[in-house]
Amino acid sequence: MDTHLAYEELGLHPSASDAELKASWRRLVATWHPDRNGAADAGRRMQSINKAYQHIRQLREGAGEDVDAESNGPAEAEAEAAAAAQAAAEAAEAAAAAPLHTVVRSVRLTLEEAILGCTRTLSGHYRHPCTECVGKGQRVLAQACSSCHGSGAVHKAALFGWLWNQEACTDCGGDGRQRAPCAACDGQGEQSLAWRKRVRFPPGLRAGHVLEVPAARHAEGAARAGEGALELALELRLEIAPHDLFALDAEGVLRCAMPVNGYAWMAGHWVDVPTPEGLQQMRLNRDALVYRLRGQGFPTAVRGPRGDYLVTVTPVFPAEPDAAHEALLAQLIDSSNRAADAEPTQPLGAWRKRLQGR
Ligand SMILES: [Zn+2]
Ligand SMILES: [Zn+2]
Repeated sequence: MDTHLAYEELGLHPSASDAELKASWRRLVATWHPDRNGAADAGRRMQSINKAYQHIRQLREGAGEDVDAESNGPAEAEAEAAAAAQAAAEAAEAAAAAPLHTVVRSVRLTLEEAILGCTRTLSGHYRHPCTECVGKGQRVLAQACSSCHGSGAVHKAALFGWLWNQEACTDCGGDGRQRAPCAACDGQGEQSLAWRKRVRFPPGLRAGHVLEVPAARHAEGAARAGEGALELALELRLEIAPHDLFALDAEGVLRCAMPVNGYAWMAGHWVDVPTPEGLQQMRLNRDALVYRLRGQGFPTAVRGPRGDYLVTVTPVFPAEPDAAHEALLAQLIDSSNRAADAEPTQPLGAWRKRLQGR
């Protein structure tokens, strides 16, 4: 095949780039494919277009020129077209079946909320590809492209008298159809869905847990109410805020460390202790520093029974007792010594007796 004729067949100048070559060939195939073109000589034109394309390709590859790595031969073109059609059909099917959209976000609960469970109203804006234009930001109209008058190619600035030097039209991408910005997304290709959902957090969730809320229909934002809807699922990653009183240890045991009045501790008084439900009375015992409150701790599993709650007390005595305090302490020591002396079986009483007997 004559090289000059091959370029002529494709409407190109020999200086055309590989991309221009490919674009032109694709446009001509789209025009002359016998499946789409009823003209009597469509089959013959198709053959010569393919021959010309192959000829130039071989020529360029042989000359060691860079050939677009992803360019395909004519045989693959039909496979490519079929694949594109299938992809479009699949996209339409997927759109009809309302594809699953998932909002992923983290939610921070207080320790009390994690222990007892809670309900929160969550809301946000979910950005997604425009449902009207499938993210393209434009729609294809029936009329011919105004830039190329439907030919799909524009004339390049003539150089050295070459007037038939053409380039694929950038306004229509070479298919010759007019484009208009998509009205649904203002040409952005993206839409934002305002959503709001009441979510129930079961008791026993811990940091790192993921709560999945199944898809539910959320109407599009107020301005577009009723116009469209999405199936929106939530994937909530749990965080637990640090607490100033409680701590969850590595074994999942709820703990609290609290200072108590040393004398109240010695006297076995009742004190207020914080629990996830609020303040509660607990009786101190001078033999114990750790107290186990059964069934008042963190759930052993999500929705499981409550574990134990461990309270560690630190008896606190005044660092520098004042005079009144000193007097009271002296009185206390005096009376307890007398009580010990009166009861010789007590270790202190027995010891004092032994000293006096020497
Ligand atoms: Zn759109
Ligand atoms: Zn155009």
